[in-house]
Amino acid sequence: MARIVAIGECMGELSETGEPGVLTMGFAGDTLNTAWYLRRSLGMDWDVDYLTAIGTDLLSDRLLDFLSGEGIGTGHVRRLSDKTIGLYYISLKDGERSFTYWRNDSAARRLASDPAAIAKALEGADVAYWSGITLAILSPTDRAALLEVLSQFAGRGGKVVFDPNLRPRLWESADTMRGWIHRAAAVSGLCLPSFDDEATHFGDASPVETAERYRSQGTARVVVKNGPGDVTIVDAIGAVATVPVPAAAAVVDTTAAGDSFNAGYLAAELTGASMREAAQAGALLAGKVIGARGALVLQAVQGHEG
Ligand code: ADP
Repeated sequence: MARIVAIGECMGELSETGEPGVLTMGFAGDTLNTAWYLRRSLGMDWDVDYLTAIGTDLLSDRLLDFLSGEGIGTGHVRRLSDKTIGLYYISLKDGERSFTYWRNDSAARRLASDPAAIAKALEGADVAYWSGITLAILSPTDRAALLEVLSQFAGRGGKVVFDPNLRPRLWESADTMRGWIHRAAAVSGLCLPSFDDEATHFGDASPVETAERYRSQGTARVVVKNGPGDVTIVDAIGAVATVPVPAAAAVVDTTAAGDSFNAGYLAAELTGASMREAAQAGALLAGKVIGARGALVLQAVQGHEG
């Protein structure tokens, strides 16, 4: 039995249905989206756990029920009696979505305040998956503590996989973000950045430049997504290759394109695929996910469950 632990924040998602006064409720978050697609893509010889912090209220219970109902392990979810989960609201206007967040005081911001609990959750695990959003929401002390635990996990042979997911609004400043993202990359053997974000916030001129920058920070391998453009892969000895992305049948909603790519990539690599094959698998899954609305697209994974 192998085990992957995804670490991050899952929020309640309230969205307008188009019918006045009627909202639907779901759960999403970058690392959760990846965990959900991983659970659906990997066989039952893999456990997929989600590590976060939530409240003890009924809404937090619903999130826990959702995770376990989806087959995601909840044994390492912390419950904090004085907090609850973050929420966001999706407004629809002329087909365009805009987002309002209530997450500044969410329970997940304390997910790393007990580093010993994280170390315990990672005991015996094979892979830890996390993102720049996981890091952004923490206090500086907890960021350093989480980095230390992941670095020890990597030192014991654990595979640490990181999506920088650059969100400057979640950070104290863009400089702070850049500094921590590089420290995070240094403890992660595999980085999965998206070129448009990296070009905006680090000024990279090309996906190869993005990959080289992360490698210079200490990441062994980098896979750079680039929307409909080729995926750039750089392996542990620095060899560069590009993998074309199949043309999408339809682009309906690109929410979770990167998150689902990461899951498709990892599920393939963890079951023996090469980096190139894994990038093809990631692009195939992401191409289906963007063909329908929402972050968690059941049609994209049906028929491919392990
Ligand atoms: P993010 O969602 O993190 O910004 P990208 O936009 O780079 O990530 O997209 C992630 C992956 O989703 C791409 O590598 C590609 O496989 C797929 N994808 C995104 N946009 C398109 C598109 N317009 N056509 C086909 N595939 C796409």
